[in-house]
Amino acid sequence: MQATQKEMMYEGKGKKLYKTEDNGLIISQFKDDLTAFNAEKKGSEQGKGILNCKISTEIFKLLEKNGVKTHYVETIGEDLMLCKLVQIIPIEVVVRNVATGSLTKRLGIKEGESLPFTLVEFYYKDDALGDPLINDEHALILKCVQSIEALDELRKIGRKVNEVLREFFDKKNLILVDFKLEFGVDSTGAILLADEITPDSCRFWDKNTKEKLDKDRFRQDLGNVKMAYEEILKRILS
Ligand code: UDP
Repeated sequence: MQATQKEMMYEGKGKKLYKTEDNGLIISQFKDDLTAFNAEKKGSEQGKGILNCKISTEIFKLLEKNGVKTHYVETIGEDLMLCKLVQIIPIEVVVRNVATGSLTKRLGIKEGESLPFTLVEFYYKDDALGDPLINDEHALILKCVQSIEALDELRKIGRKVNEVLREFFDKKNLILVDFKLEFGVDSTGAILLADEITPDSCRFWDKNTKEKLDKDRFRQDLGNVKMAYEEILKRILS
């Protein structure tokens, strides 16, 4: 598909979004920038944008093949993805299989403990508030969505994405520890999976060594950030 990159409409932490000549389509450019702890920690890794674009492309295609509706249209450059324009729902949907990160800090659950069932959490997307954990009633009061049914749909899609990806990465000798999803509403009112699915937004541990192969390498100054992202792409393509 031909698409011409027009003016930038938004710059986020990991991507720049551009308009196209088609009102219903945008171009998402994946950046090399890395941020953590609500952007208090900043860095950059040359080539990360290209790696993330490739990784996200493969994952969106896999999910579409498995019946998950996404904003993905086509990858049109090494760091450029053509996507459907959606109205982003201001909720970060976090799906967890293994306890780590903020879950262990908040509730004292032991780091690395497998959860008895998949946990789905909602965080309110608001940098000034530090993306707080919210429940369904908060989400309705904040008008993130119109109905409780929409929240149930986010949970349902989150679990479906987890089922597909967990099995896929298991075959690649990787544990899908947890991940964050964002959703948008298209012009017909349908909820589509949006944003990105990359080692910036997921945690992957090697099944045998438990080595971290994701943004925790940046968060925790473990080094070899780019090598980890390259390893994830290599395993996805293997
Ligand atoms: N996550 C994300 N963006 C955020 C917060 C979390 O992509 O703004 C992802 C993170 O990479 C991890 C999962 O969501 O895969 C759960 O993160 P957690 O709540 O443990 O927060 P963190 O430890 O990153 O503060």
